[in-house]
Amino acid sequence: MLFSSLGLSEEIVRAVTERGYDNPTPIQQQAIPVVLQGGDLMAGAQTGTGKTAGFVLPILHRLSDKSVKGPSEGRPPIRALILTPTRELAAQVEESVREYGKYLKLSSMVMFGGVNINPQITRLRSRVDILVATPGRLLDHVQQGSLDLSKIQILVLDEADRMLDMGFIRDIKKVLALLPKQRQNLLFSATFSDEIKELAEGILKNPKLVEVARRNATADTIAQKVLPVDRERKRELLSHLIKEKQWFQVLVFTRTKHGANRLSDQLNKDGISAMAIHGNKSQSARTRALKEFKSGELQVLVATDIAARGIDISELPHVVNFELPNVPEDYVHRIGRTGRAGANGEAVSLVCIDEQKLLKDIERLIKRELPKEIVPGFAPDPRIKAEPIRMREPREGDANRRPQGGQANRRGQNTPRQPGSSPSAGQGQPRNRAGGSGNAAAKRGTGGGNKGKPAPGPRGNPRPR
Ligand code: AMP
Repeated sequence: MLFSSLGLSEEIVRAVTERGYDNPTPIQQQAIPVVLQGGDLMAGAQTGTGKTAGFVLPILHRLSDKSVKGPSEGRPPIRALILTPTRELAAQVEESVREYGKYLKLSSMVMFGGVNINPQITRLRSRVDILVATPGRLLDHVQQGSLDLSKIQILVLDEADRMLDMGFIRDIKKVLALLPKQRQNLLFSATFSDEIKELAEGILKNPKLVEVARRNATADTIAQKVLPVDRERKRELLSHLIKEKQWFQVLVFTRTKHGANRLSDQLNKDGISAMAIHGNKSQSARTRALKEFKSGELQVLVATDIAARGIDISELPHVVNFELPNVPEDYVHRIGRTGRAGANGEAVSLVCIDEQKLLKDIERLIKRELPKEIVPGFAPDPRIKAEPIRMREPREGDANRRPQGGQANRRGQNTPRQPGSSPSAGQGQPRNRAGGSGNAAAKRGTGGGNKGKPAPGPRGNPRPR
């Protein structure tokens, strides 16, 4: 099938073709006609499936089409709103809007927290047709009176499951209340939990359901491997692999922000250029790291799960799980960074004795046993016994040792994945609104407020309150 047969305008097909894509991916084939017809959509698709173009292309078409009229005089209002869970994803989606819309007279803007609000306020005074935003900063603007959402015709909730995981449900509901009732709604989610279904029921009208196979069912282009190794020798093994095999563009996952910083420092000491990307980094540091990594200047990017979510680097050759994630689904998200859209990739997990249960959980989820391979010189020492895994960020004064005893382990099992452990996760945006109920982590009842007892939400995450 060709893009030109989907009913998209010549300007859009030209931009897509210039990008190097001739054939729509399965999600694009299914989603584009539905959106073009103006219907609501519930789409099951993960990052890597081409979902972004699946909504961006038909939105561009509809907004540039004479049949979907804006007001005849004055500055056109914002007509499409795309909400994303993270800043990186917002930036990438808006980049796609600009790229695919380069032959159209439409204007787009990206809006997220962690950066000065004033340039955004200034930008809002000129024409914006398509706004891509993270929920918190969007509401900041609403509160300041700098944003009018009353003319929105199309709403997209991208990675809706992640937005719920990150505690954005209340923000989403606040945004919904500001939109006109009559509008087109598109919801994209990698999973269909009960919470997502409930959200969808409240938003979508007679939605068409389209779904593409989850990558964990289809990721045959990704070679997955487990390298058993002692916990204290992981860094050494990683440096060895990178140097020996001359790996470039290696995305490495750690469980905690602290671990990401420490590993990137150690790699630099080993002569390997590395940067860490996580919620405690300033937006400019994150953007710079991502840019250098994409351009190939930076050999290794060390990331936490949420920071890496949505990072779009096509044909990423190497993903390394320096530590396995505590949530098995995150393994699938992580390795989804490689072998994207048909390209080959390799996902390697460095697994120590402490992580056997996490490995079993992952293998159960992906319904296959991962091949194990011992790297010569790095065979695990059989005398080393399993220890509980540290899953929270260390506090000041913590030694760099693992906690002892079962209690820490229990907390580890209960503690949600890493960003929830720090109120400043910043993967969405820091809040600063008067009367605001704080950041996502606080809303999720994690951080300091609800130690060890978050109500389990989907995938074992705490449910946002
Ligand atoms: P997404 O799922 O939107 O994050 O897209 C995943 C990757 O697939 C991105 O690098 C896109 O640029 C790429 N992509 C999107 N559409 C196509 C297509 N029709 N053919 C090949 N690659 C595509």
